[in-house]
Amino acid sequence: MSVIVIGGGIVGVTAAYTLAKKGRDVILIDKAHEGKASSAGAGIVCPWNHRIQSNDWYEIARLGAKYYPALISELEADGEKVDGYKKTGALYVSIHTEKLNEIEGTLKTRRKNAPEIGDILILNPAQARGFFPPLEKSLGAVYVSGAMRVEGKSLVDTIRRASVKSGVEIINGEARLVYEENQVIGVTVNGERKFADSVLIAAGAWAPSLLVPLGIKLQVEPERGQIVHLKMMGHDTSNWPVILPESSYYMLAFDDSRVVVGATREVGSGFDYRTTVAGISEVIAEGLSIAPRLRTGSLEEVRIGFRPTGPDALPVIGPIDSVKGLILATGLGSSGLTMGPYVGMLAAKIIQEEPVDLDLTPYNPQRAILV
Ligand SMILES: Cc1cc2nc3c(=O)[nH]c(=O)nc-3n(C[C@H](O)[C@H](O)[C@H](O)COP(=O)(O)OP(=O)(O)OC[C@H]3O[C@@H](n4cnc5c(N)ncnc54)[C@H](O)[C@@H]3O)c2cc1C
Repeated sequence: MSVIVIGGGIVGVTAAYTLAKKGRDVILIDKAHEGKASSAGAGIVCPWNHRIQSNDWYEIARLGAKYYPALISELEADGEKVDGYKKTGALYVSIHTEKLNEIEGTLKTRRKNAPEIGDILILNPAQARGFFPPLEKSLGAVYVSGAMRVEGKSLVDTIRRASVKSGVEIINGEARLVYEENQVIGVTVNGERKFADSVLIAAGAWAPSLLVPLGIKLQVEPERGQIVHLKMMGHDTSNWPVILPESSYYMLAFDDSRVVVGATREVGSGFDYRTTVAGISEVIAEGLSIAPRLRTGSLEEVRIGFRPTGPDALPVIGPIDSVKGLILATGLGSSGLTMGPYVGMLAAKIIQEEPVDLDLTPYNPQRAILV
């Protein structure tokens, strides 16, 4: 069986890796557009108490988080070192004791079905600052030990390298679908035609443009996120946990004294690849309200990414009724680094007609197709 994967973000590389390890002939095509979400994503993997109130979202996000250790072990067994991935734990922070009690209750209930959540501890503000020193003095926390953080770009590069070892052919370029009547038979890229039994569109926010020639309007749009990277020189940040306040903002740390504060959620941004004054001031103001001592840090970098946002909070995974030979895996929105590897693996299973451990009905692409 031969497969062409369009898109080299977290979804596409994991799908290509999974397929190649099953002995399939795989070509991965990536244009690496500016604003590739997987290179900008903060990298928080902690879905167990989330703003998104949807059981279908929770289920796939939970399975996404659960899949991480297996994927990392597989990459290590293939001789890859995965930089930037660590189980650091997370602190859900609030000034309200009732809120912390409520979060603790949710986590304890969910832990029955998700033991990977790990330890759950209520911390007073002084204890919380022991975990994350710059934290605002009135914030208490619920600590959850199972949370992970991952450097998206580095994880994608690692999986891509491992895919090549397993036989994936990588082409840098922009693919267009080649089709006959209602059947996709391959792509054109860099002026050449490539044919395959199946084509997977894992093209993130750019997926809709691939379908336009087939007369299909896919409801997936870019949502710009601007995210700020700071350096806290002289601080060992390597074990600092992820910080999740009640708002949609957050922060996390990496080994090189780096603290990442995110992020804007700019619905309707289009593919406007720009750092804006409003965006950066919003993120810094929110970050400092959670951790005022970050003001001593230095501003290192601002990353910009386009989250692929579908008609609802759920990803768009599976075939399209009207077209044969084509599978979609996009629309992962703000949770794509959490569920992306799992979704890529699911897409590989769908292509190979293997059973999956999740009812895929809620994620069916038909709901995202405008007629
Ligand atoms: C600021 C920000 C913070 C985030 N934080 C988190 C977080 O903490 N936790 C979390 O779980 N998620 C987070 N996310 C979400 C996550 O990053 C995305 O959902 C995920 O990376 C999407 O992956 P993808 O593979 O679908 O798309 P992408 O990573 O965007 O990759 C798509 C790829 O397809 C390529 N492509 C498109 N069209 C073509 C074509 N025609 N031919 C060839 N190649 C093509 C593009 O060039 C691109 O390389 C964040 C996102 C942003 C922007």
